[in-house]
Amino acid sequence: MKAEKIWMDGKMVDWDKAQVHVCTHALHYGSGIFEGIRAYKTENGTAVFRLKEHIDRLFNSAKIFKMVVPYSKEEFKQAIKDTIKANKLKSGYIRPLIYRGFKELGVSPFNCPVNSAIAVWEWGAYLGEEALAQGIRTKISSYARSYINSTSQKAKICGNYVNSIFAKMEAIEAGVDEAILLDARGFITEGSGENLFWIRNGVIYTTPTTTVLEGITRDSIIKIANDMGYQVQEKYIGRDELYISDEVFFAGTAAEVTPIREIDNYQIGEGKRGPVTENIQKKFFNIAKGKEDKYLSWLDFIQ
Ligand code: PMP
Repeated sequence: MKAEKIWMDGKMVDWDKAQVHVCTHALHYGSGIFEGIRAYKTENGTAVFRLKEHIDRLFNSAKIFKMVVPYSKEEFKQAIKDTIKANKLKSGYIRPLIYRGFKELGVSPFNCPVNSAIAVWEWGAYLGEEALAQGIRTKISSYARSYINSTSQKAKICGNYVNSIFAKMEAIEAGVDEAILLDARGFITEGSGENLFWIRNGVIYTTPTTTVLEGITRDSIIKIANDMGYQVQEKYIGRDELYISDEVFFAGTAAEVTPIREIDNYQIGEGKRGPVTENIQKKFFNIAKGKEDKYLSWLDFIQ
């Protein structure tokens, strides 16, 4: 993973020189917020998928975490586009980060500066190309998603991902691809970095966003599925309902639409990508790649 330039506090710097002090507050306490955005290659050049929604969520994360961003939303959007151009990125991943920098190292972040950075790099399928076609193996994590009052799931806070890292490490060491976390009550929430959908008798379900990130892919899938004539419902369920679902899939910027073929050694459906997942996945990629006029407003083209 490498590109040429990283945007840091308003300046383009060389990838290898994009460094911070070891006493950076965020490095010690996770006091940062970030976004994960994708850019796709289209017939009309590179396009950023749902940039407005990602910037809105970034600024909402900043508000929740009491950080005053020293840029307007428009300036931040422009900085993202400038970073894509500076790296001649055709398609890949965009990682804006706003973090508490170095001044002092008490737990209170209030005296530390608010620093910003934007990295971009070429990145293919997060869980592998084969995963998109064949589906992945997962397990229910023994780590519970953070209790609703432990931190904020509406905010994409760096420190929240310690919970995800524990779940991901456990999944990898158990020999599967990804974890599914329950909340403190035992209801299904999401993956370590993806929202979850399941299908039973033709109806598509997903979890309410109370204890999960308000995923932008999740929102896209709900709109796409409704437009395709599917019924979509939010529901709290236990792990057993997933075991007997016809299809299950993850949705996220990195994971895109990744089918799940196994959970806790239970085969899901036919043990491969199901037909509803395939329909939605196909539509999703066509939209992201600019092949669906109806959804062109979701794309920000790089001039
Ligand atoms: N949940 C978590 C915990 C995530 O990290 C992500 C990735 N940002 C998602 C869900 C999916 O969100 P999005 O579709 O906006 O990428």
